[in-house]
Amino acid sequence: MSWPEIVYLQPKITGLTSKFWEGLKNRKLLASKCNDCGERFFPPRGLCPKCLSENIGWVELSGKGRLHSWTEVHYLTPKPYMLGVIDLAEGIGRMVSRIEAKQEELEMDMPMRIDFIDVSDKLTLFIWKPDKLPRP
Ligand SMILES: [Zn+2]
Repeated sequence: MSWPEIVYLQPKITGLTSKFWEGLKNRKLLASKCNDCGERFFPPRGLCPKCLSENIGWVELSGKGRLHSWTEVHYLTPKPYMLGVIDLAEGIGRMVSRIEAKQEELEMDMPMRIDFIDVSDKLTLFIWKPDKLPRP
């Protein structure tokens, strides 16, 4: 798959999410972490969902997850692609993401791992793939 071919929507990077995008550039998946109560959550928010603190930092996640759901997208795209919902391994949220796999390779609840793709000097995006590495 040629990545630039399927990139036509680019994220809007805000003050709240800039660290997340910076993390991708460094091959890290980051989530928000409350500096007061320790709650971790995704997607990033400026307010802790547990204690309402605005003292929010960042924590690196494993980049592992499980496939919750998926579909093949044909709408507004020159070429169909797989879109999935991933349950993060840490149990703190879900990510909607493109998936690099064929429909017939996918199963409910299968292990997935994140991968990073440099789109430009300034932008790195993520894609999830089936995690085929043997599990302990
Ligand atoms: Zn908190």
